[in-house]
Amino acid sequence: VRETEDRAVKETVPLPKVKLTHPDRVYWQDAGVTKQDLAEYYAQVWPRMEPFVVSRPLALLRCPDGAEGECFFQKHPWKGLSKDIIIAEDPEDKEPLIAVKSLAGLLGLVQAGALEIHPWGATLKDMERPDYITLDLDPGPGVEWKDVIRAAQDVRERLAAKGLASFVKTTGGKGLHVVAPLKPKAGWDEVKAFAKAIADSMAEDEPGRYVATVAKAKRKGKILIDYLRNGRGATAVAPYSSRARAGAPVSMPLAWEELSPDIGPAHFTVLNAAERLRESDPWEDFRKAAVELPAENRKRRGGR
Ligand code: ATP
Ligand code: MN
Ligand code: MN
Repeated sequence: VRETEDRAVKETVPLPKVKLTHPDRVYWQDAGVTKQDLAEYYAQVWPRMEPFVVSRPLALLRCPDGAEGECFFQKHPWKGLSKDIIIAEDPEDKEPLIAVKSLAGLLGLVQAGALEIHPWGATLKDMERPDYITLDLDPGPGVEWKDVIRAAQDVRERLAAKGLASFVKTTGGKGLHVVAPLKPKAGWDEVKAFAKAIADSMAEDEPGRYVATVAKAKRKGKILIDYLRNGRGATAVAPYSSRARAGAPVSMPLAWEELSPDIGPAHFTVLNAAERLRESDPWEDFRKAAVELPAENRKRRGGR
């Protein structure tokens, strides 16, 4: 079909002229993935990744010695950043934040050894009003993958009951993220309170399966419904971001029907992800599906 061909063409973006020093530097020893490989991967997924990364404050997991070496989170700019990286002011932070406006900016971060990209769920032009909710499903020891899938479907149903569409992705780690697009209207506290209410209700209704607080860390055999990704300044790994974990996995958007034992949380990697781009984008309607947070959760500000 014509449309598919057009899409396939659009899905490939030429690598911008960003100077990668030591392009052959190995970032994932076990998978044999180099800095150049990572840059090319991002160029391929960029059309789909862009809306989740551009003009949002970013926290980066930097690993100067590659994924197997020591890594650290960084959210403030440092000296020698590429000119394609934006320094953004945060009225609530003494130090500025990091953002990018283009693939060149992202590749500047790759150059700087950023192996994971963790955006805020809000854009720079509307920093106080999130444009999606992330529910992060963290399986404790002994939880089977089919139960993580069920948890994601449970979250989806509870969000749907509140009028919210949701989308699912692997994390590239151990779990799944369920992400619900919002029209940016409610503030952080309201959105966090809403996410907490979903997590609490799941833990209340099925205490044998779910917990809602990290403190109740008796998590063996249970799934933590981590709602804390939704506070101001909190982040979650971006769709398509690579992970500094064994095998160069990525966080991959899926269609709900794709959830199955065949696709584990780290199934997709920097090396095998490109194949998927020939298929249609399971998150294509993400922004179109955005609604405002339901009014009942918007009565009062500052809920926690
Ligand atoms: P997994 O499926 O393995 O849980 P995950 O990305 O959900 O993968 P979590 O450990 O649940 O990993 O962490 C959730 C999020 O918390 C991370 O994606 C990251 O954005 C944020 N985070 C974790 N540690 C830090 C940190 N030290 N500094 C800033 N953000 C952090
Ligand atoms: Mn998680
Ligand atoms: Mn978590």
